[in-house]
Amino acid sequence: MIKVGITGGIGSGKSTVCQFFKTLGIPVFEADVEAKNLINSSEAIKNQLIAEFGSDIYLPNQRIDRKKLAGLIFNSPTLLDKVNRIIHPEVREYFEKWVTLQKSPYVVHEAAIMFESGFYKMMDYTILVTAPEQDRIKRVMERENTTEEGVKARMAKQWTDEQKAELAGFIIKNDNKELIIPQLIALDKRFRSHG
Ligand code: ADP
Repeated sequence: MIKVGITGGIGSGKSTVCQFFKTLGIPVFEADVEAKNLINSSEAIKNQLIAEFGSDIYLPNQRIDRKKLAGLIFNSPTLLDKVNRIIHPEVREYFEKWVTLQKSPYVVHEAAIMFESGFYKMMDYTILVTAPEQDRIKRVMERENTTEEGVKARMAKQWTDEQKAELAGFIIKNDNKELIIPQLIALDKRFRSHG
């Protein structure tokens, strides 16, 4: 099965691009969504997070205390790294199982930190979605009703597009100058003819 990784900074439009792949009949694995589910359902994750942070990192209803976890990791790269090391192997295992269940010419794996996490090494192809910073800020502010400073703080934690572009196989420009659908269809054709 051909695996295509899609990533991009916050507000770049990677989810939008993935929606188009879905309409072309391509299964999309949303790593961030799956990670959020696994943090509640995986015993392996639960045990390790409790060992690291104590049992009250989970609420009485057995679901993660998101606020507490976010508060712990937002300003601590070391703790964020620890949490990622606990969650990523489980997401990876789940993705590998998921892939075996798909019947399609290829699959798409969407992740915000594809390059930062090293997940890109599992992919046959990678796509980076890019957009000008001002557009990204505006889109996220509209999507989430948040402030410019809030968006910038999150952007500052991600790699820059330049860093990501060095590792990306393909780039989709979502800058409202180039249309994304023709870019996507050209890539779809390429992936379908791969094997
Ligand atoms: P990401 O998943 O990379 O954070 P999204 O795909 O959610 O980004 O896009 C961010 C927001 O911007 C969404 O509300 C989306 O509908 C909107 N958006 C995406 N692409 C465009 C575009 N080309 N023009 C205007 N709005 C866009």
